[in-house]
Amino acid sequence: MRKIALFEQGISPTPIVKMSGGYGENQYYIKREDLIPFSFGGNKARKAAEFYKEIKACGADIVVTYGSNSSNHCRIIANMAAAMGIACHIISPEENRERLYNTRLVEDFGATIETCPVTEVSGTIDRRMETLRQAGRNPYFIMGGGHGNPGTHACADTYREIAVYEEQTGISFDYIFHASGTGTTQAGLVSGKLQADAEKKESGRCAGGQKIIGISIARNEARGREVVRQSIEDYLGARYEELYRDEALIFTDEYCMGGYGKYTPEVAQTIEKVMQSDGIPMDTTYVGKAFHGMIQYVEAHGLQGKNILFVHTGGTPLYFDFLERR
Ligand SMILES: *Cc1c(COP(=O)(O)O)cnc(C)c1O
Repeated sequence: MRKIALFEQGISPTPIVKMSGGYGENQYYIKREDLIPFSFGGNKARKAAEFYKEIKACGADIVVTYGSNSSNHCRIIANMAAAMGIACHIISPEENRERLYNTRLVEDFGATIETCPVTEVSGTIDRRMETLRQAGRNPYFIMGGGHGNPGTHACADTYREIAVYEEQTGISFDYIFHASGTGTTQAGLVSGKLQADAEKKESGRCAGGQKIIGISIARNEARGREVVRQSIEDYLGARYEELYRDEALIFTDEYCMGGYGKYTPEVAQTIEKVMQSDGIPMDTTYVGKAFHGMIQYVEAHGLQGKNILFVHTGGTPLYFDFLERR
């Protein structure tokens, strides 16, 4: 198994920059998770760095994961496996046939793609893991989107970087917005905040009223919230009862626009505007859609004079698919 130098060294804090484009009466900042320097970055790269440690620790010789072969997660996991010199097996729903840049990359990295109907995914995963073990292989399984505790842990680090930035600059964010998909990113951010609030309290400082708002890109509010809450519980473990507060978890499905991958012409306009005024690429499935949702949320709630941080969670190859299909 080969080492990945960046993951050995650890990921440096990603930049937080002020945005120049005008979006109403607030100050907007953006945390560039998309600039994590591995495989076009993003939250899946951050999560992958955590899974990397686990894979190394158990000496796996094949990574098995689930997801659409056009997903950011599958691209990064396939890239990581190729870099480590181990095999990658992706189980993909056969309903998804769109070929995007991510698909080509996944193929170039030599990953095996096994398709099955979306209803048979969990059975297919179990059978594949069993067959591999029987063949004397040592497979490591990663849930779709890098969901699970290592992923949550990675995204709690994102929050810790934000807290350090606030301390160093004296700027405090009233709101943190981001795209919420499998819920791992939100679980990490909220857990990081719950831990930081508890530390502040212990040292007699005020925790402040900062809100973290997950803009759902597909799930309805009831299910989306519950998955995030469950991930927070898994991550905080014994400290869950003491630290968890329901008000800390804000998840809105008001900007889903009809479900996964769907978006309005206004989202495309927002993406073009952000690229022009700040030179930042965004995709239509996650980041551009959530950024546009944030602008609408801010308007609907009449927010003014606030410091607002948007977390850019990556997906850069999808920006080029957007350009081609526009
Ligand atoms: C996966 C993904 C998300 C959603 O993150 P979750 O942790 O699954 O909620 C957001 N943005 C991009 C670009 C992604 O690839």
